[in-house]
Amino acid sequence: MVDAQHPPEVDRVAASRRAVEARRARASLKRDIATRVVSPQEALRRAIADPTSPAGTLRVPDFLTALPAIGESKRDRILAELGISPVKRLGGLGVRQRRTLAQWLDTRMPEPTPRPHRSRLVVLAGPTAVGKGTVAEQIRREHPEILLSVSATTRPPRPGEVDGEHYFFVDDARFDAMVAGGELLEHATVHNKYRYGTPRGPIEQALAAGRSVLLEIDLQGARQVRRAAPDATLVFLLPPSWDELVQRLVGRGTEDAEERARRLRTAKRELAAQGEFDFHVVNAEVAEAARQVAALAS
Ligand code: 5GP
Repeated sequence: MVDAQHPPEVDRVAASRRAVEARRARASLKRDIATRVVSPQEALRRAIADPTSPAGTLRVPDFLTALPAIGESKRDRILAELGISPVKRLGGLGVRQRRTLAQWLDTRMPEPTPRPHRSRLVVLAGPTAVGKGTVAEQIRREHPEILLSVSATTRPPRPGEVDGEHYFFVDDARFDAMVAGGELLEHATVHNKYRYGTPRGPIEQALAAGRSVLLEIDLQGARQVRRAAPDATLVFLLPPSWDELVQRLVGRGTEDAEERARRLRTAKRELAAQGEFDFHVVNAEVAEAARQVAALAS
């Protein structure tokens, strides 16, 4: 017979393990919100879809302090303004409270509004280590109709890289000449080290022939393309979670603490630029992310 007051030891152990896991999942979600890997609106949608999920069981005050630039006193003012009790969990909000909170979020931190018109010039950018290269490579294999731009770089080739296929490997003098001759649509020094640039000619030819073009470049490059070709479609690739990005950035543990901290700071700064992009795609699964990016390019 089961005694509800005194559950067997195994049940108590299992229950406390579940509680620990749930707390860990909520802490991880708060990191996702703080680093903008998950938008607050998305967290609210998840909470409504499943009140028992990490988002659903997150207390509203904890949700608010996870948002950028909201401390405890601001949090209390917001709760009062929205008429939400501090004991409420996101998944337990009434219909009216959900709507008020959603509206408040939309005015304070709007989500990207997809552009009504599509350009055939698509830029794929995102934080370091999010997997842009892998997604672009998948698109190259699956969508030969899309031209994957081949950049020029002063970086030496890695084993297996083919000149003219992965990059045009050039020296500094040649790169300078390309810049001076206006041959590059954009160019930037990446990771304070080597220079990378997008040759203009092949892109113009492809676009003129009605083909779509995909550029896999860094953030500085994406901003330059926005200026040079304002109607280009800018896609930001997001990691499935902040913890996952940290794993991909420092996972091998070969860097010292200072280098790890530097990479994490850079990743946070890069994630904060996502508001400049027209579309966000989550790279949880390469094939699916590639499918979504390719769909935006056709
Ligand atoms: P890797 O050296 O690992 O191939 O690339 C390093 C970084 O350079 C990646 O973040 C990649 O997106 C970026 N990159 C590659 N080609 C270009 C380019 O033509 N322009 C800019 N701005 N960045 C590039």
